[in-house]
Parts: sequence; C-alpha cells; structure tokens
Amino acid sequence: MTQVAVINTGGTIAMGMDAESDSVKPTDEHAMERLIPLLEKYANVKMDHYLNIPSPHMTPEIMYQLAQRVHHYLEDKSIAGVVVTHGTDTLEETAYFLDLVESSEKPVIVTGAMRSSNELGADGPVNLVHSVRTAVDPSSSNRGTIVVFNDEIHAARFVTKTHTSNVATFQSPQYGTIGQITHKQIKYYLPPLPREHYTVDKADASVPLIKATAGMSPEWLKFLLEPGIDGVVIEALGQGNLPPSIMPVIRELSSRKIPVVMVSRCFNGFVQDTYGYEGGGKQLKELGVIFSNGLNGQKARIKLIVALETSRDIERLKEYFSF
Ligand code: ASP
Repeated sequence: MTQVAVINTGGTIAMGMDAESDSVKPTDEHAMERLIPLLEKYANVKMDHYLNIPSPHMTPEIMYQLAQRVHHYLEDKSIAGVVVTHGTDTLEETAYFLDLVESSEKPVIVTGAMRSSNELGADGPVNLVHSVRTAVDPSSSNRGTIVVFNDEIHAARFVTKTHTSNVATFQSPQYGTIGQITHKQIKYYLPPLPREHYTVDKADASVPLIKATAGMSPEWLKFLLEPGIDGVVIEALGQGNLPPSIMPVIRELSSRKIPVVMVSRCFNGFVQDTYGYEGGGKQLKELGVIFSNGLNGQKARIKLIVALETSRDIERLKEYFSF
C-alpha cells in the first residue's frame, strides 16, 4: 500500500473544547493519533507529531525547519506524498512558503480544521482523510503545495482564509478552486499550474507588512527607516496608490535601496501604474516600487522573505515578482 507522511504542527485540528475553561486548547495529546484508523483505508500513514502549536505562534524560521522536514520525507522513495496539519490562521502563509521552496513533483498538502476534535461537526477528520486521498492520487503530481479543505482543493498561491469560523473559510477569490473532492473522486479542473522555486538555507529577513489607509501619518512608519529592516510590503489602495502623506517615507526607502513590494488591499484585480497624481501608481513605479500581482499582503511578505535569501537586487526581485 502507498505510504504517506502526515506531519502535525498543531492548530484546532489537534485541539479540543475544554468545558471547564470554555475555550479551545491543546488538551488532547492523542487527537491526531485517533484519526489513523480512518486513513488506513487509503494509505499506510507515517504520523509525525512534529509540533503542537497554535498557528499564530508560527514564524518563517519555523516554516523553514518544517520545509526541511517535508523535504526529508519527499526524498524517501517509499513516501508518495506529505500532508501537513496546521492551524488555519496562518495556514496560507506556511502553505505558500512550502510551495516556494520545495520543487518535488510529489504532492505536499496542507490542511487543518475550523472545529476542534470534540466539537459538533468537527471537520478535522474529513479534511485529513481527503488530504491523504489527494496525496495518493496520481493526478496530484507536480502541483506544488496545495490546500485541501472542506471538499475543495486550492493552490497555495491563491488561497486565503476568508471567514473567522465557517468551515468553508478557505477560498481563492480571484481564481477559484483548482479541484473538488467527492466520495469517489479527486477531480482537478486544470492541468498543473506553472511553478517557481527558490533554494534557501534560512528565512530570517525582517519584512513588515503595512496596510494603507486614508489619512495615514508618516509618523506611524518611522520604524521602517530604522536599521534592521530588509524589505517592506505595502497593501496599497485600489489599483496601487498611496496617500501622499507617506510618500517621503517611500522615497527614503527607495533611495536606500530597501525593496518595497506593493500589492492591493482589494482582494481581486491587479496593481498597475495607472494614476499619475502624487502617491499614484505611476510615481511609485518610477521610484522602483515592486508591483506584485495575484498575491495578498501576507503572501507577498512570505515571498519577499524567501526571495531576499536569493537576491537583494531590486531588478532581480522585480523579475521574481513578475511571476
Ligand atoms: N487559532 C487556530 C490556529 O490557527 C485556528 C485554527 O486552527 O483553525 O491555530
């Protein structure tokens, strides 16, 4: 029987509702182990209890260590694919990190749960079973890292958490799902998407993510000009415009050759050099701001952290972000 590695990192899927404190927490250390019998119909599962952290405790450095572990299993000829269980809050960031740094054709699947193991309608068991089924399905080959959740398959690059508590939280707003899971089938609608890959040996760049708002004060951004900032991601307004009040900070970052990557705070559409006014996209492009399309702010930040391990050259980074 095919072998699949399941690497647990924690999150609600590994937690339970504690009646005494009326809160969800990692009370049950065997929550994941108990799911193994459900998976054995589809694969021999090697379950690795790597971490048990809530995903707000995840960091790029831990993502890097996790990527090493995923790679270790993928190198093993007897393993068909890897499933990572993860808290949903930062799941999309870890999934995208793995997508960027792992080049294997074997599937890497990230999943989790919105309801803990002892809550009514717990979704962890079905999400994990679907993930293992997806991992052993030949059509999952060469798709990079994918997210399996609530009967759907999403590309790591496009998926995002859209609801605080609903089990249908993971959506790919601009592009939709790449596949569905039914009782009998793993059904992809599209051939594998083009992939990009970066070789890194750490992930410790300091990259803040800033959200643009009406009436921003440059005072709020003073820290960006202090030593130790390696790059900045800005969720800009609309098609890629910023309030004029913060342009002095952007100009200073640009003159210091600190990469500034711009995405839109709109979750659909592209940033472009359309507007020619103070703070408009045209001016930002001329200043060397890197335009990123199709990524949300948190994922552009992950990409910049990864990309900075390969190059600090603004032109090279622009090429990376044009993918
Ligand atoms: N707060 C939890 C976490 O991300 C939520 C979840 O797992 O769904 O760890």
